[in-house]
Amino acid sequence: MPELVDGLDSKSSAFGHVGSSPTAPTAVMNTYSRFPLTLVRGSGCWVWDQKGRRYLDAVAGIATCSLGHSDRSMRRTLNRQLNRLQHVSNLYRIQEQEDLARWLVNHSCGDSVFFCNSGAEANEAAIKLARKHGHTRRNIDRPVILTAASSFHGRTLAAVTATGQPKYHRGFEPIVEGFDHFPFNDFEAFKDLFQRHESNGPSVAAILIEPLQGEGGVIPGDPDFFKKLRHLCNESNILLILDEVQVGMGRSGSWWGYEQLGIKPDAFTLAKGLGGGHAIGALVVQDHADVFEPGDHASTFGGNPFACRAGLTVACEIERRNLLQNIQDRGQQLCTGLNQLVQRYPQLLDGVRGWGLLQGLVLKASTAVTAPQLASAALDHELLLVAAGPAVLRMVPPLVIGSREVRQLLKRLDATLATVS
Ligand SMILES: *Cc1c(COP(=O)(O)O)cnc(C)c1O
Repeated sequence: MPELVDGLDSKSSAFGHVGSSPTAPTAVMNTYSRFPLTLVRGSGCWVWDQKGRRYLDAVAGIATCSLGHSDRSMRRTLNRQLNRLQHVSNLYRIQEQEDLARWLVNHSCGDSVFFCNSGAEANEAAIKLARKHGHTRRNIDRPVILTAASSFHGRTLAAVTATGQPKYHRGFEPIVEGFDHFPFNDFEAFKDLFQRHESNGPSVAAILIEPLQGEGGVIPGDPDFFKKLRHLCNESNILLILDEVQVGMGRSGSWWGYEQLGIKPDAFTLAKGLGGGHAIGALVVQDHADVFEPGDHASTFGGNPFACRAGLTVACEIERRNLLQNIQDRGQQLCTGLNQLVQRYPQLLDGVRGWGLLQGLVLKASTAVTAPQLASAALDHELLLVAAGPAVLRMVPPLVIGSREVRQLLKRLDATLATVS
């Protein structure tokens, strides 16, 4: 057994680095098809494997490591927090939780916040809120929540049912009742579905939707579509709930994805980027949508001092370092560079889409190469990428990425495309 070492910056081979060859037998359950790579250290936008090979990280823990790896302010504030208080439960008021909730409310359309530990859990809270709102404010017996096809809302049973991708349901039936799906960005089709559900009186409690579909292929929402949804929800007293788990907390170049769409949701969920790599999720609601009372919902770990300190640090540092501007500028640089690659590899690439530092490179339908294959090929060029479905390569680097690093990213991607084309 490797000895546990004391000290955060240890580069020693202890702490589990021994014997963690990517091909060694594993006691970890086989639920992921993993890259043959074990990462042991990170700094900024760079990570190292156990052989000391350095990779440029355009995955950032799947859009979570907002400040990059081993960020100095993150280490300082979290070390201090560990030395002071880590966890006490929600039986008591938690100052860090109060502060993060206050920050979120001051910087969004929301009025109050429920904290949990992940995106799926935040969406579960939103689903319960929506159902209770449907029961109490629209008098619905069996409320339905409408979500989009090709969406992604998480893997717990209700969240996976909300997820409009049948491949995630298969094998886990019966899925949860009370959900139905409409095509993303298609208001006429949405209205058809809505009217079908409402033909015998009120039955729809809420629409749960991503401002930009992340896992589903980096598909930005159409502002016109969202404005029409907003209008319909207002007319019928239905909640418009945005899943901002991937887009929220700055990644789009504004704090919230809904700002890109020119609307305000009644509630929205957060997770990925909020904790800068630490487990935290949140449901932010406007007062008029808040139907929860004491006892309605809970989470043992949710909003603990450590997780909230991580969230506060991310928020403070994005503001202090003017990172929203960086996200816009580097996002533009990345998008321009990716468009040049589309010109250079016309048989392979179809286009670029996304917001800020969430960009998708779309592969041609006619090409035999898939996005996961390209992400694997990029490892040979020391670049970490993640697919969003079979035909889209997703780029979600840390929000602190610099212009030289964006150039490096494009150069390595160019080299990867050259080898497969
Ligand atoms: C990742 C993601 C989730 C699920 O988050 P987990 O923390 O993995 O549960 C939900 N919604 C969106 C939009 C996501 O990108």
